[in-house]
Amino acid sequence: MLMGMLRRIIAVTAMCACVPFVAESAGANATVGDVRTSESDAVEAKMREYGLVDISELDATICVELKYATADNFVGKNMYGGLRKAFFRPEIARAIVAVQRELKRIDSRYSLVIYDAARPQSAQRTMYDMVRGTLKQRYVAKPARGGHHNFGIAVDLSILYDGKPVDMGSGFDTFTEVSHIDNEVWLLRKGLITRAAYDNRRLLRRLMRAQGFTTYKREWWHFQKYDINYARRRFKLLSF
Ligand SMILES: [Zn+2]
Repeated sequence: MLMGMLRRIIAVTAMCACVPFVAESAGANATVGDVRTSESDAVEAKMREYGLVDISELDATICVELKYATADNFVGKNMYGGLRKAFFRPEIARAIVAVQRELKRIDSRYSLVIYDAARPQSAQRTMYDMVRGTLKQRYVAKPARGGHHNFGIAVDLSILYDGKPVDMGSGFDTFTEVSHIDNEVWLLRKGLITRAAYDNRRLLRRLMRAQGFTTYKREWWHFQKYDINYARRRFKLLSF
């Protein structure tokens, strides 16, 4: 019993350096199970084989909480098996680290929190199969050709303050217009998002754009680099 509890605490802690925030949401993460498995080692080895890097090795202060590795996502299931680390192409990881440094320069109590990173094609297939034929289908790229996440060139992220997520007006993967970024003045005027949420989104976008990231109009949390057709010619799809 005690060992089980200890293992769970270690597992949850290992997910994210921002312990207070994670400890509060331990219930949601309870389905995570053991972090270290041979399967997760194999996935991590594949990521490195494809030239991707684990961002925590570049900057351990960035919080990583992969939502698709828990049941706390729009599908309600873990689609990532044992994967707990945020992998990216090296230049993408370096750009995110630069954003973290700028954020901490503004206020050291800020931190980025990463909700999704490089996504293997097999996880994309699982995700796509789960939403096929539903209204959510349009938010998930088709697995055969892959989207930005399947090349390690996209990130889903937000900002923490003292380890707690700041107000962004809607939660990660809330697929409604409250998450759109092309109507925020209207959202603010209508009282659908707060002034704080409006400002927080603008702060995140300003810092990400300064590092060359582009946005996606339906998701305040999504940023990417490179045109997808360019990426398909130049980079390897994570076909595992
Ligand atoms: Zn995304």
